[in-house]
Amino acid sequence: METKTNIIDLESIRKDFPILTRKVNGKPLIYFDNGATSQKPQAVIAAIEKYYTLENSNIHRGIHTLSQEATEAYEAARNTVQHFLNAEHSKEIIFTSGTTGSLNLLASSIGKKHINQGDEIIISTMEHHSNIVPWQMLCEEKGAILKVVPINDKGEFLMNEFENLLSDKTKLVSVTHVSNTLGTINPVKEIIAKAHQKGALVIIDGAQAVPHTKVDVRNLDCDFYVFSAHKMLGPTGVGILYGKESLLNDLPPYQGGGDMIKTVTFEKTTYNELPHKFEAGTPNIAGGIGLAAAIDYMNKIGVDKIEAHEHELLSYATKEIKQIEGIRIIGEANNKASVLSFLVDGTHPSDIGMIIDKLGIAIRTGHHCTEPLMDRFDIPGTARASFAFYNTIEEIDTFIHALKRAIKMLL
Ligand code: PLP
Repeated sequence: METKTNIIDLESIRKDFPILTRKVNGKPLIYFDNGATSQKPQAVIAAIEKYYTLENSNIHRGIHTLSQEATEAYEAARNTVQHFLNAEHSKEIIFTSGTTGSLNLLASSIGKKHINQGDEIIISTMEHHSNIVPWQMLCEEKGAILKVVPINDKGEFLMNEFENLLSDKTKLVSVTHVSNTLGTINPVKEIIAKAHQKGALVIIDGAQAVPHTKVDVRNLDCDFYVFSAHKMLGPTGVGILYGKESLLNDLPPYQGGGDMIKTVTFEKTTYNELPHKFEAGTPNIAGGIGLAAAIDYMNKIGVDKIEAHEHELLSYATKEIKQIEGIRIIGEANNKASVLSFLVDGTHPSDIGMIIDKLGIAIRTGHHCTEPLMDRFDIPGTARASFAFYNTIEEIDTFIHALKRAIKMLL
């Protein structure tokens, strides 16, 4: 296969993803919907299958061999995530159901402990609904105020405006590391430092960052970092909440139930230590193990190489798409991840999506769970191609050709 980039061994990598060999509508699948969820390598599928085939058992309280093996595998997965993020302790890694689960946990626990009437919470214009709605619900409950950092026409976070919004009333800042709609990579280290100067806590939504770039939570100095496994080669239904130990210790638990307790009487319950305090009930054991397999797979290729290859894909696709008449790119930040959102004059994104699906090409169309961002650009939605490291230059050529055909049919 002609790849025109030699940063990674694409031919062998693509063989690791069984789904990439299938046909859709009679054409070889071209999967450009990685922002929604990535495909899974055989190593991840095999790890999940091995768990259910040979190790399936409930964790933590069992004394029998299977339970101990399952517990060891699950806790080893936690250690893998710890090293992936460069967290100080494995107890700072909480397994959740995903980014949305992690953010709702934080809204509930931080809300109970730290948010009062008149307090302010800052987010940005480019947040996913899952980093908007939990804060709106909390503000409504507590009488707190939600403030929103504007962006410029290129889709970049406006640092000056952020500084103007920060005040002694700011209790929390929650912003995305990478925008799922625009691809913008936000200067989160600077955002965190400025928020800390005002004594605010900072949450970073890393759902679109961890699949593409190295994240070091200690270097960033974020208080909390959240992401989903399924966008970074892992299974659905599992995600991570990283939090600094002292802050997590200080927060009340989210849900009550098994595993999160130390002792229970009808008079009083005492809570378990980290990380179990935030993990009530039987978790997604296979999911945690699958996530660790995904991290191992990414590490084997090298996250720096993944990033470099995806950067080439984005540059090439951007250059090619700009040559099509009537194209408007939404999101032209200087620092961008491999997301290409666009509109074509005189056409509707969903018509384009439907036509190129007939040619085996999967892109996403709509508001991408960022309706306020669509309002900012005064558009109903976009067509979005989002690339992963297993995508090729040749696939982009086929996509551009298909796009031209679709436009011809529609105009
Ligand atoms: N945040 C961002 C930036 C996202 O892109 C997404 C999903 O698209 C989410 C949060 C929500 O992730 P999940 O649906 O896996 O909880």
